[in-house]
Amino acid sequence: MTTDANITEHHGRCYCGRVDYTVAGPLRDVVDCHCERCRRITGHHIAATQIERDKLSLNESSTLKWFHPDDDPNVGYGFCANCGSSLFWRESDDCERWSICAGTLDHPTGMKTSLILFADEAADYHRLDPNVEQLATE
Ligand SMILES: [Zn+2]
Ligand SMILES: [Zn+2]
Repeated sequence: MTTDANITEHHGRCYCGRVDYTVAGPLRDVVDCHCERCRRITGHHIAATQIERDKLSLNESSTLKWFHPDDDPNVGYGFCANCGSSLFWRESDDCERWSICAGTLDHPTGMKTSLILFADEAADYHRLDPNVEQLATE
């Protein structure tokens, strides 16, 4: 059976295209993080896959900026300074794995959502999917 999980290269970009990337290899399923920080920074929640840094090629990154929260300055949220798209998340500047905001990938992604983090901090208007495993905190 052929499934989208067999796709070995994926392309993604921010809305305006000034940040553009290619990812090699299959993508991990999507994890949603509903913590207050991710909610406010992205405007809803982070829904991200994750890959090893050396599997990610930045084709264009002239407007890629990193936001470091005051209370957790090692953590970086990568976004496009031109269009504002949320693109990446990483635990530290030199960590070996980057999270990729799933909505920036071209379709088909071949992924499904497999885990919900910080379910207890999810926006009160949002209905969490009862069929996806939920953790109250990370
Ligand atoms: Zn952009
Ligand atoms: Zn979060």
